[in-house]
Amino acid sequence: MKVGVVGAGTMGAGIAALFANADYDVVLVDISEEALRKAKERHKSEILKELEEAGIKKRDEIVSRITYTTDLDNLRDCFFVVEAIKERLEPKRELVKKLEEIVSDECIIATNTSSFKPSEIAEVMRKPERLVLFHFSNPPTIMELVEVGGEKVDAAVLEKTIEVAKKIGKTPFVIRKECRGHILNRMLGASGVGASYVLYEALPEEVDAAIKNLGMPKGFFEMFDLIGVDVCVDVLDSFEEAYGDKFKLPKGMRFFLNKMVEWGKLGKKTGEGFFKWVEGKPVIPEAEPCDVMPIVAAIVNEAFKIVEEGIGDKETVNEIYRTATGSYAGVFDIVELLGAKTILKALEDLYERTGKEVFKPARSLKELQ
Ligand code: NAD
Repeated sequence: MKVGVVGAGTMGAGIAALFANADYDVVLVDISEEALRKAKERHKSEILKELEEAGIKKRDEIVSRITYTTDLDNLRDCFFVVEAIKERLEPKRELVKKLEEIVSDECIIATNTSSFKPSEIAEVMRKPERLVLFHFSNPPTIMELVEVGGEKVDAAVLEKTIEVAKKIGKTPFVIRKECRGHILNRMLGASGVGASYVLYEALPEEVDAAIKNLGMPKGFFEMFDLIGVDVCVDVLDSFEEAYGDKFKLPKGMRFFLNKMVEWGKLGKKTGEGFFKWVEGKPVIPEAEPCDVMPIVAAIVNEAFKIVEEGIGDKETVNEIYRTATGSYAGVFDIVELLGAKTILKALEDLYERTGKEVFKPARSLKELQ
């Protein structure tokens, strides 16, 4: 069985490896020869180690199952194609439209978009019901989560997608009601606003030490670097289009992120972001943990709002957070640990001080008191 992955960057290379490891023949397409070369390198070392760490490594060699190409026509025989190109709506629309001209009518087209609603991307398609959300957490090889779904996706397409996700060792969570950022990235978007305020008085390594103390395997800024500063900036732009000021960062922080992109300090993929990266690992200075309540409170608050809007139930939102971050606790478990009263008090203070909507206490959190 042949699958396709378009985009051989941070995510596409990992997703291609998951399929090759699960005995699919894979066609990996990118517009950049350099990106394909780097993906192949990663498939011979770093990504094999990740599969081992995830406990799903079956094969010692995955490159022999992958065709690396710049030609979309090689996707002709695929039954499932995942797009993982940059986070901009128009290029994604252009791509899915082109894909429909190449693949068979039965082929499922899946999108790893971090922010766009699947139906927004599918709008330009002849058969929009064949486009399904297939959103991984980073690194896709290690993190268990895949958010799958979409409002317009055909039931049989969704069922097949769930089957495929399980075959490559992932845990799919179905999200039928769409919103930009799905479930995971709405929580991460809120955490970005919280982190910007913490950074007024702390260093990234102090923030990360505190986040790790809360049981997360990775700190906030380590995760930022892992995702890629450029990808985060694209997601912020997409969020601003849909949510206005809600997830907008304070001006200074946004200016700084734009400069990081301009300077090529994109994180792991360029060897430096908030931290330096050596042989795929961050070099994080030892630091004392600082107060990260603005980050935690913003995430929890957004989780309550997601449930209120009917995007996902409490259990799903809790598990999505846990499986995407590798933390032992889900987002609502954090409420149990810290106490709803403490979180509400922090939100009220933050909202009064900043006026930012992400800190405006959710109705259902207030009702818990
Ligand atoms: P990336 O910048 O590392 O890689 C993107 C790749 O797509 C590049 O190699 C680029 O050359 C290629 N590309 C761009 N336009 C193309 C086209 N038209 N056809 C073929 N290839 C093209 O980005 P990434 O981090 O891998 O993100 C890819 C997608 O996955 C985005 O939609 C992103 O939002 C989403 N995503 C990212 C993360 C993350 O942590 N980085 C997590 C989940 C989802």
